[in-house]
Amino acid sequence: MPTEDTAMVVVMRHTATSQDIDSVVRAVEEVGGDAFVSRGKHQTIVGLVGDLAQFSEMPLHAFPGVDDVIRVSRPYKLVSNETHPRPSTVWVDDVPIGRDTVTLIAGPCAVETEDQTLAAAKMARDAGALILRGGAYKPRTSPYSFQGLGEKGLDILAGVAEEVGLPFVTEVVTPADIDTVAAKAHMLQVGARNMQNFQLLREVGMSGKPVLLKRGLTATIDEWIMAAEYIAHQGNLQVVLCERGIRTYEPATRNTLDVSAVPVVQSLTHLPVIVDPSHSGGTRDLVLPLARAGIAVGADGLIIDMHPRPETALCDGPQALKRDDIVTLREAVSTLATAVGRQLPERRDPALSAGGAWGRSAN
Ligand code: PEP
Ligand code: MN
Repeated sequence: MPTEDTAMVVVMRHTATSQDIDSVVRAVEEVGGDAFVSRGKHQTIVGLVGDLAQFSEMPLHAFPGVDDVIRVSRPYKLVSNETHPRPSTVWVDDVPIGRDTVTLIAGPCAVETEDQTLAAAKMARDAGALILRGGAYKPRTSPYSFQGLGEKGLDILAGVAEEVGLPFVTEVVTPADIDTVAAKAHMLQVGARNMQNFQLLREVGMSGKPVLLKRGLTATIDEWIMAAEYIAHQGNLQVVLCERGIRTYEPATRNTLDVSAVPVVQSLTHLPVIVDPSHSGGTRDLVLPLARAGIAVGADGLIIDMHPRPETALCDGPQALKRDDIVTLREAVSTLATAVGRQLPERRDPALSAGGAWGRSAN
């Protein structure tokens, strides 16, 4: 991690006009620097790259519409908590994911049939989940494995989500599918295998939807946060990071849940971070212990696979929780959330206006 300042960021007031932003950009370009404008829902940020000593001599603070000028010592600017010290809350429809709460996301690994998806969604709701998960487009290691139902699966998921009254998150594996998925889903998932698919990151950034960004199988924390920066760079700061286990030399678990990543990421960025105990452990018996570990270490939420009949599942059956596990999960989440000073989230009153990552901060 470099310790010297590597960049500067100009935070514009929410009242700043396009002319105010343009004059900052022009002034920076006139001295040979580059200026990257990121328009958040409530605030615009201009990242400056070039000769920092020269930028420091410019009266940027005095430019109209400028709120603050910040020197950044990390390679990522927009998602760094140097630029935005207060932790962000990302809203998935009317459900918050942020530093005050523990938000449960649950559902089937893959959408197989309408009945299976509905049954899994009801299990998720009974477990206390406020967001439904489910894969319609599946990134599989083998081309012979079930690849997901695609658009048909998306329609099933959208119908089931509506029926159980929960917003849903689903994976998008290629830029070509983003419009189709974003038209129905409340949150887009970028999977571990696509964490450095930079074109996909840019385009989910442009979608305007909240994004769940899973950590790559062999990604360092810096690489993972830089992937989030790609999304933010398109003006989309509604990013939730997901620690889902990394590949180590240990074959006893599917992946090794890197619990340290949670507080490390929280010390570096303002983004929420959640834990996926299903894809890290890889077996049902490990899901509850790892879920407890995730909450204990300070995760802002959990994402968990469940299935009404895991023995018949077309994808990841061994790690799917069964009906018998639901009460235990519900109680574990509620007890541990209280123990670490968090609350279970409440859905936002629909009468209140929508907020984005910059507009709504947990504290
Ligand atoms: C998933 O959540 O269904 C999934 C494929 O996860 P990951 O990208 O973490 O492997
Ligand atoms: Mn899975």
